[in-house]
Amino acid sequence: MSGEPRPALSVVIPVYDEVGSLGDLYDRLNLTLKETRQTYEIIFVDDGSRDGSMDVLRALHAQDRAVRVVRFNRNYGQHAAVLAGMARTRGDVVVTLDADLQNPPEEIPRLLAGLGDGVDVVGGWRTQRRDWWLRRAASWAVNRVTSAVVGVRMRDYGCMLRAYRRSVVDQILACQETSQFIPALANTFAASVAEVPVAHDRREHGRSRYGLFRLLRLNFDLLTGFSLLPIQAVFLALRRLVLGPEVEGVFTLFAILFFFVGLQILALGLIGEYVGRIYQEVRRRPRYVISEVLE
Ligand code: UDP
Ligand code: MG
Repeated sequence: MSGEPRPALSVVIPVYDEVGSLGDLYDRLNLTLKETRQTYEIIFVDDGSRDGSMDVLRALHAQDRAVRVVRFNRNYGQHAAVLAGMARTRGDVVVTLDADLQNPPEEIPRLLAGLGDGVDVVGGWRTQRRDWWLRRAASWAVNRVTSAVVGVRMRDYGCMLRAYRRSVVDQILACQETSQFIPALANTFAASVAEVPVAHDRREHGRSRYGLFRLLRLNFDLLTGFSLLPIQAVFLALRRLVLGPEVEGVFTLFAILFFFVGLQILALGLIGEYVGRIYQEVRRRPRYVISEVLE
C-alpha cells in the first residue's frame, strides 16, 4: 500500500467478540466518514475474538479497500489492540472508537471540529452514561485520580471515542512501557486538549469485558493508594468518639496501632507493586503478537 497517498483520517477500532455489532458499525461509520468528504482508512484490530468476528472483518476488507485488519494470535486487551492499530495508521488525525456501538460513530465529525487551532487531543465526554451505577462510580474515581496524576483535568478519561493529531500518536508509539493507559499517556504529550460532549448508548450485543476488577487493574498504579486498612482505623476512631471509651483506653490504643500497622502494610504493598512493574519493564516482552494482517 506504499504507493497510495496518505489518508487524512484513520479510525482505529479494537474488536473482541463483537460479531453482533460489526455490520451495523461498519454501515454507520462508512456513512459518517463519506459525509466528511475526507480521505480515510478504517483499521480493525481483532483482539483474539472467538465468535466469528474475524470472518466478518475479512468480508468487510474484501468489499472495501479502506478497511484494513490486524489480527492478534490471542486476547491482549483493549489498549494493546488500540496501540497495534495506531502503529499502522497513516492519517494526519487518528480517531479511536469502540466496536460495540456504545460510542455512536455519528459523533466523529464533532470530535474533528473540536480539533481546531492548536488542540492536539479531543476527548469524548459521555454526558449521559448508559452503564450501571457501580461502573460509573468506579469511573468517577478513576477520572479524579488520573486527572491528579497526569496533571490534566478531564471529565472523562475512560471514553475511547477520541481524536489525536499525528504528532501525539507518534509520541505514544515511541513509548516502550508495557502497561499503558492511552488517554492518560496522550495528555502528557499534548500541548492542549479539549473535551466535547458525546452521546453514549447501551450495549446491544454481548457484554462488557470490564468487570470492576479489570477496571481497577487497568488503573492499578493510580489506585494503589486505595485500601481498606485506613478505613477500618477510621471506623474505630469514630466509634471511640461516638460511644466513648468502651474499655478503658484499650480500643483507642488498638485503633492507633491498627492505623500504623495498616499504613506500613500499605506502604509495603506499594513498594511490591512498583518492583513488579519495574520487573515487567526490564523484561521488555512484546506487548502483543500479530498473526495476520489484511491490507
Ligand atoms: N476490547 C478489546 N479487547 C478486550 C476487551 C475489549 O479489544 O480484551 C474492545 C471491545 O471489543 C470494544 C472496546 O474494547 O470495542 C470496549 O470494550 P467494552 O465494551 O467491553 O468496554 P466498556 O464499554 O464496558 O468500557
Ligand atoms: Mg462498551
